Amino acid sequence: TLCDLNGELLPLSQAKVSVMDRGFIFGDGVYEAIPVYGRRLFRFDEHLARLHRNLDKLRFPDLPGLASRDDWLTRLRRVVGGQAADDQMLYLQVTRGVAMRDHVPPVDLVPTVFIMSNPMKPVPPEVRHQGVACVTARDFRWERGDIKSTSLLGNVMARQLAADQGAAEAILFRDGPQGGPWLTEGSSSNVWIVHEGALLGPPMNEHVLEGIRVGLLRELCEEEGIAFNLRPISEADVLAADEVILSSAGREVLPVTRLDGDPVGHGALRGKPGPVYGRLYEAYQRAKRE
Ligand code: PLP
Repeated sequence: TLCDLNGELLPLSQAKVSVMDRGFIFGDGVYEAIPVYGRRLFRFDEHLARLHRNLDKLRFPDLPGLASRDDWLTRLRRVVGGQAADDQMLYLQVTRGVAMRDHVPPVDLVPTVFIMSNPMKPVPPEVRHQGVACVTARDFRWERGDIKSTSLLGNVMARQLAADQGAAEAILFRDGPQGGPWLTEGSSSNVWIVHEGALLGPPMNEHVLEGIRVGLLRELCEEEGIAFNLRPISEADVLAADEVILSSAGREVLPVTRLDGDPVGHGALRGKPGPVYGRLYEAYQRAKRE
């Protein structure tokens, strides 16, 4: 597998960065994971815009050789071209660069840019068909979940909690000024509920990473005539929901059919993937091959 480190194409096993890179020392970096279908980057402009927003929020210096959209596309496509699979997951990360350890970043740093791509690992059909089990957990991460940071310790710990219980994801809740607990997101996904036929997600504030699928689902709902709304969602709302759905680059949309051991939903659909999920899944499959 070939990867790109600072513009150089080389085997992944030979890519090396300094131990003084601020990504290694402080987790001072941001990343993107971009799905590739049929060798085409899905929603590339949205991913690039989010990357630039993150770099701005962290006041990163300019990236050498990556001033324009075309610069990025050339570099990313070169890595995609080095893989045999047509469907891939492209990963890129930018860390602030190499410097003596000091919390205050020196101004003259050259960021480290790393790009790799791996064959897409789609959710197995039987898992998709059954839906996944999730657990609820307190959102003990920091207060800037809006930044797609490589510092993922809180997310990793939350996922460990879920994995310990045989669950696919931890669905996180945080207390706010208006009580709570309120839904934020999953350890590596956005979380949706279906209530009275509408798809509802939490407001995209500093506690939530605005997934590229948030905008996509808004569009797909519009096409499908499904009401879409972002508003505070309580833990009780989630536990009483008709459907619970995860979204992320890797999982696309995925139904949650058990939550803390209990089946999700009501009546005949209890514990089964619901109709809104089914329509969004089909719409997603069309969109990604367009
Ligand atoms: N929230 C978190 C914490 C994530 O790590 C991710 C990444 O997959 C998402 C949400 C979903 O974002 P996206 O739709 O861009 O994959």
